[in-house]
Amino acid sequence: MAQAMPLMTASADLRARYPEGTVYIDGAFIVSPSRLTVYGKQFGDTICDVGSGNADVIDAAVTSADKAWPAWRAMAPSARAALLYAMADRLAAEMDQWISLEAHHAGKPLSDARIDIVSAVMTLRWFAGFADRIDGRVVASAETVHRYIRREPLGVCGLIVPWNFPLLMMVWKVAPALAAGNTVVVKPASLTPLTALLFAKLASDAGLPAGVLNVVPGPGEAAGMALVRHPRVTKISFTGSTEIGKQVARIAADTVKRVTLELGGKSPTIILDDADLEKAIPASAAGCFGHAGQKCAARTRVIVSESRADEVVERLAKIATGLKIGDLSDPATQLGPVIDTKAQSRILGMCQDAQKAGASLVCGGEAPDHTGPYVSATIFDQVKSGDVLAQEEVFGPVMAVIRVSDEDAAIAAANDSDYGLAATLWTRDVGKAHRISGQIQAGTVSVNTPAVVGIETPFGGYKQSGYGRELGLEGLDAYLQSKAVIMDISS
Ligand code: NAD
Ligand code: MN
Repeated sequence: MAQAMPLMTASADLRARYPEGTVYIDGAFIVSPSRLTVYGKQFGDTICDVGSGNADVIDAAVTSADKAWPAWRAMAPSARAALLYAMADRLAAEMDQWISLEAHHAGKPLSDARIDIVSAVMTLRWFAGFADRIDGRVVASAETVHRYIRREPLGVCGLIVPWNFPLLMMVWKVAPALAAGNTVVVKPASLTPLTALLFAKLASDAGLPAGVLNVVPGPGEAAGMALVRHPRVTKISFTGSTEIGKQVARIAADTVKRVTLELGGKSPTIILDDADLEKAIPASAAGCFGHAGQKCAARTRVIVSESRADEVVERLAKIATGLKIGDLSDPATQLGPVIDTKAQSRILGMCQDAQKAGASLVCGGEAPDHTGPYVSATIFDQVKSGDVLAQEEVFGPVMAVIRVSDEDAAIAAANDSDYGLAATLWTRDVGKAHRISGQIQAGTVSVNTPAVVGIETPFGGYKQSGYGRELGLEGLDAYLQSKAVIMDISS
């Protein structure tokens, strides 16, 4: 396909390293009994076939990780840190190729893909810095007793990753897991397995010992579930939909695995009547429409004081209709396609249903005239908090504006959700900012900035957005367990 060429050419060197039909186990690409085809998300062009694993392949990967674990956990922590830094350096050195490949196979504009790869490098470096800074503590004891607490790795961790940030979500898990001394098996999403496989090879080239990082793509019900069931996997870290997350937790309970769940969201932006609209408006548009709304923490509900609502809606619509829709290979593109035509139909169907139910469409709600599964940036006004559009995750560029009379109504609307991943608040009143931040039921509250993710701060859900945290020191703790050592030293 001619139109897809610029991205394919830019990432050709990377793809040339990948032998088709393979998975990555024990430091090598291994031919798998079955395959799945990876497509470019704009034009549907075939990129390559990757290996697809079943329970036997997952067992081979877990066995390899299990075999690698004793030496990996015994390695000097500073040596583990050096390997993580080396992986980051290699990724940084090949930045442009990785950006092109991720853009192509995950369907994201180059500008979004750049943020992902830059963040992956920073995340590797941040956790590398903790590999040799993990300590325990000595506990108050009688003179004849010595008691202390060690923090130890868990063993083999199963890491299940979604398609919206394929490499970045993998690195959020791999970096702390390896820094803490665990070995891992990664199950990438079937739509986006390629950068995960190539990253495993990059890690080996950087010196990571065989078996420490294994990657097996495959269907969720087969490969994913085999990992969740496997008796020698001690922890599952899952990022994906709430529905699958619940299944994962149920099955993981059979073998009492530790579980981290990063699930869906319906996160709000709250614009109070004293908000600085010059900043709040563009930030609210970006918070919702970035990566075509396919972000777990997309702020898809805009809760706004009635007194400012007309102006806010008008200005948001101006941005939404002005976003540059374009090819993934065009650096100027602001709004790319959604992941596939199935998602496009689902999103457009939800927009039609909302209109039938009486919602007030301000802009969008249709497929723009551009090759690929695109959805126009869409805004619905006058949405009521109980409406489907205010309750269900759309996972597309669709914003629901909820008008409220006062601050208390804003807080009530923000918390009227089964989800609780993130929230953004706009106000110039410092007291209100602190007070409301304490009242919002979400794992992250950002004030006067759309940024809800920082490597240094924990990220994760309240309520049905999940449990456990990634990033920050909590993200490292998620891959450690405590051991108490109690010693009689009386003689
Ligand atoms: P998904 O739940 O369909 O798939 C996620 C991963 O789980 C994939 O690798 C998939 O193959 C695997 N999987 C599917 N069925 C499985 C099973 N039965 N057992 C084990 N593994 C299985 O989600 P998706 O469609 O890839 O991603 C979109 C969802 O992810 C959205 O709901 C979004 O909100 C969520 N998400 C959350 C975060 C977060 O940090 N909270 C980040 C990104 C995406
Ligand atoms: Mn899915």
